[in-house]
Amino acid sequence: MKTLTDLFEHQLKDLYSAEDQIVNAFPKMVENATDTKLKEAFESHLSETKNQKDRLKSILDTLNIKPSGEKCKAMEGIIKEAEHFIKEDAADDVKDAGLIAQAQRVEHYEITGYGTVIRYAKELGHDDIASKLQKTLDEEYGADNKLTDMAEDRLNRKAKS
Ligand code: FE
Ligand code: ZN
Ligand code: FE
Ligand code: FE
Repeated sequence: MKTLTDLFEHQLKDLYSAEDQIVNAFPKMVENATDTKLKEAFESHLSETKNQKDRLKSILDTLNIKPSGEKCKAMEGIIKEAEHFIKEDAADDVKDAGLIAQAQRVEHYEITGYGTVIRYAKELGHDDIASKLQKTLDEEYGADNKLTDMAEDRLNRKAKS
């Protein structure tokens, strides 16, 4: 890995692997959420994630990069942790709170990753690619903010009861 281009490609492949793993793992989050609004939020971000994976694939195609050969070890770990949590015996609202916590770990990893590749894309003169990646980053922020709101809603309900 000699150039920023090499690093850019490496980071894009890492993110592609991360999105791919999320697409496979998220149905379990949907399945295990008990609150209807949370279930819907997970479902809607799952379909967004499928688009993000396709968007990244088209970027990789543009750059003539094969998406294979890179597994995001961090996402593998974050997902393992979520799967472990899902197996815990927890009361419904506690389970939902924990699922939000796990999902936000996923979003924060993605936010960091996309922030980085957007900077590299701009530095390397790929403005078109940068704006596509920015679209995904905006969606990741959106998903994260929605989860924060849901966690706070729960807190407010608790305070009133
Ligand atoms: Fe994503
Ligand atoms: Zn690597
Ligand atoms: Fe990674
Ligand atoms: Fe996401």
